[in-house]
Amino acid sequence: MPRLRLPIERIEAIPARVPTIRPHHLSFATVDAMDVVIVRVTAGGVVGYGEASTIGGPRWGEESPEGIAAIVGTYLAEAMLGQDAAQLNLAEARIARAVRGNFFAKAALSMALHDAVARAGGIRLADLLGGPQAIHLPLAWTLASGDTARDIEEGERMLALRRHRDFKLKIGAHAPEDDVAHVAAIARAFEGRASVRVDVNQAWDEPTAARFLPALAGAGVAMAEQPVAAWNVAAMARLQRANPRLAIMGDEGIATPQDALRHVTEAACHAVALKPAKHGGVAGTRAVAAIARSAGLGLYGGTMLEGTIGTLAALHLYTTLGDHAWGTELFGPLLLRDTLATSGIEFRDFAIHLPEGPGIGTELDEDKLGFFRTDRSRTSLPA
Ligand SMILES: [Mg+2]
Repeated sequence: MPRLRLPIERIEAIPARVPTIRPHHLSFATVDAMDVVIVRVTAGGVVGYGEASTIGGPRWGEESPEGIAAIVGTYLAEAMLGQDAAQLNLAEARIARAVRGNFFAKAALSMALHDAVARAGGIRLADLLGGPQAIHLPLAWTLASGDTARDIEEGERMLALRRHRDFKLKIGAHAPEDDVAHVAAIARAFEGRASVRVDVNQAWDEPTAARFLPALAGAGVAMAEQPVAAWNVAAMARLQRANPRLAIMGDEGIATPQDALRHVTEAACHAVALKPAKHGGVAGTRAVAAIARSAGLGLYGGTMLEGTIGTLAALHLYTTLGDHAWGTELFGPLLLRDTLATSGIEFRDFAIHLPEGPGIGTELDEDKLGFFRTDRSRTSLPA
């Protein structure tokens, strides 16, 4: 029986910086441009793409764009050149062994290999993973302008456009009293029309969370993401037990399958934010999702605010994982002023829609990459 053979001939990691449409305020950073790393793999003459993105450099997690590009372009390339991309299970195991940690770098390469193999077979990435269980997923938006009135105005615009009806508020940078007042005002404004959730991004300690989570639940907030430090699983469990009306979501604290298992055994959350970058690629994401689903935890299709390439790779993967009780937040491309891809994503009817393939369903725009890349001086203007 002949089989697909795709020897890996080339692995490139190209850092780029794309400005955002507005400053994005988070508890740990304010972002006005996204630093991404595009990974381009050539295997058996077929090219596949992956992307890693960090939010504010090594602020959300430990990896920086510079580090990701170096890890992919040196250590992972050394381990993977000449290997058969079509043997994806072997490839992911080899990637996992080649370098410790560095999940964002591994995920970008994992995505690029999957994209190349799907393209070689002329099928969608989702089909390579057994086929989608949905062709569109609910799409949340993050209101993070830093101003209550502006956030409400932005939310109204999103409802009118029928683009989003789940709003996530980034809190934790201000006094908790002010944050709760901000959230309550927005929840009131959208009562019965849109859901409001919060992401504290680890900014609170346990007493602060214990004091203010009930007020958030009282204001109509249904979900609170990572209220305390990633390491503090015990506090997550106590907070979840004390606030049964609120789904506490693990994000920064759940990277590996072992993290997911620990949250399950300690009953530390009701929901899990998935991110291929956190989990080191396709296999890691599927492992974490399987543990979460088996324990009855709701899935949330998270984002590191990747551009079109990384967002599409995550979308293909998420559609194969079954129900997403908390939808997705795959809006990264909508926060960017420009794109490194040749085609856009369909965002309509409060959902993100799966494109036709092959692979992730778009191509890298070489002119735009030439303009936005940060590893050499600009040699062209964007088309
Ligand atoms: Mg989060």
